[in-house]
Amino acid sequence: MKELKNILQEVQTKKSRNYITFLTGAGISSASGIPTYRGSDGIWIKGTKYYKPESFGTFEHFSKNADEVWQYTFFRKKMFSEAKPNDSHYLLKGIEDCIPDKFNLITQNIDNLHQRAGSKKVYEIHGNLREMRCSEECSKDVYEMPNIPLKNIDEDLTYDEKKLLFCPKCGEDTRPNILWFDEFYNERNFKLDTTLKIAKNSGLLIILGSSGATNLPNALVQQTIKYGGYVIDVNLEDNNFTENFISKKNFFKFRGDIKEFLELFKNLMKG
Ligand SMILES: [Zn+2]
Repeated sequence: MKELKNILQEVQTKKSRNYITFLTGAGISSASGIPTYRGSDGIWIKGTKYYKPESFGTFEHFSKNADEVWQYTFFRKKMFSEAKPNDSHYLLKGIEDCIPDKFNLITQNIDNLHQRAGSKKVYEIHGNLREMRCSEECSKDVYEMPNIPLKNIDEDLTYDEKKLLFCPKCGEDTRPNILWFDEFYNERNFKLDTTLKIAKNSGLLIILGSSGATNLPNALVQQTIKYGGYVIDVNLEDNNFTENFISKKNFFKFRGDIKEFLELFKNLMKG
């Protein structure tokens, strides 16, 4: 790998296309105890029903099982709220503080841990569990999820709680403002155009714990490379990014711990 120090110096002295952008996936949250969605065998609902994430995490499934999906959503929110940001989340916050104008953080995670660590410029390309919107798309409005008690895996929503999850405009079900497997990226909810533009203007894009299983993350890498930027893939193992981009001269891989990489990176920035 070309010396990280040299890459960083080169990017920091560029007059344009000099953003430093981080793309994070489930791997950064595993140290906080959050299981990776794709790495797991499946999803258990209330200890009896079993689904594969690819079938549970779809609009089609929601359209037939809205109550069950909402119950699971408030269970996941509970799991996220009980988890704490880890050292890597705080290191990213520290890096943002050093270069606030050039820093961007694009995340596939919906766990809110970057925000809880204090990161400000965060683009959530798979949505989040703070917001909901009408499942019938009767308007473009996005609403804060109601503040109802978070649920254990075996705990149903009450009738009164369910009523808070109806669309205030048309009365149909709302849905979590996240991207499901049978849906497409867009600008309005998932910052498709904004993040592609950031990638174009990035002198350096660093992948942290994403395996590149979905298409926008791959498009971001492609965009950065196309416009002359460097990409560093920080992961424990080779993955889809490695397979797709290893032949590109500006693509490098760092096999090791995310925290270890970020500590190194932060020290080089100071030096
Ligand atoms: Zn509606």
